[in-house]
Amino acid sequence: MKVRSPLNRGAKERLTQLAQLLHRSYGAPENDLGNKADPLDEALYITLTLQTDLPRAALMWSRLKTAFPSWDALAAARVQRIASVLREGGLHRQKAKTIKRLLARVKKFAGELSLERLHQLSDAEAEHFLVSLPGFSWKTARCVLLYSLGRDTFPVDSNTFRILKRMGVLPPSAVYRRRSLHDALQNAVPKAERRAFHVNLVVHGQRVCLPQTPRCGECSVRRCCAKRGVALSLQPKAALHSAFARAS
Ligand code: SF4
Repeated sequence: MKVRSPLNRGAKERLTQLAQLLHRSYGAPENDLGNKADPLDEALYITLTLQTDLPRAALMWSRLKTAFPSWDALAAARVQRIASVLREGGLHRQKAKTIKRLLARVKKFAGELSLERLHQLSDAEAEHFLVSLPGFSWKTARCVLLYSLGRDTFPVDSNTFRILKRMGVLPPSAVYRRRSLHDALQNAVPKAERRAFHVNLVVHGQRVCLPQTPRCGECSVRRCCAKRGVALSLQPKAALHSAFARAS
């Protein structure tokens, strides 16, 4: 039986066009995202980025590094102490618990607080281990593979998912948690373009195609965007505005 693609028809061509336009606009400013070259550093950094913006995640990263001079010191610290260091980063208790469990899992796997061993594994083997880490998904696993292990993955984060839905590459019914969606998108992007395209999508989602208030008027890809769901996301504000106008 033929399995139906989770992508819309013509997705490959639209992705190619989008990758070119975004690259012209941003040029893949990787340093702006703060990802780490060491795989354990990256795993911890990604944990800090959960439901927070990049400046705050960067601040929490520097606080963590200052408070705990080594990852051994972090692993030995109490959850409450870690949570107090991460207080301003949001979800601090949850992140502190996740970090403790993550470090324990790494120690059990590698015998030390290091994920350098992943360099010796295939993409599939390394991904299999990474998704077993506390708080890890395919997206976070593929970020470690991409940024720290130099593999040709295409992580689909919430920015990418939102943009591709609005652009009409994904159907409105697309479900983020389906692995088939992550795999189909990764397979639709040529290996050599994955890293830069992923970076440009994250930057576009953070600067222009914002979750609640996309800046379509200043968007470099607006001519090829279906803007699906955008009117809906703006509706509450518009409704509020007209209600205010009626009342005044
Ligand atoms: S036109 Fe609007 S909805 Fe489409 S990608 Fe640009 S900002 Fe996002």
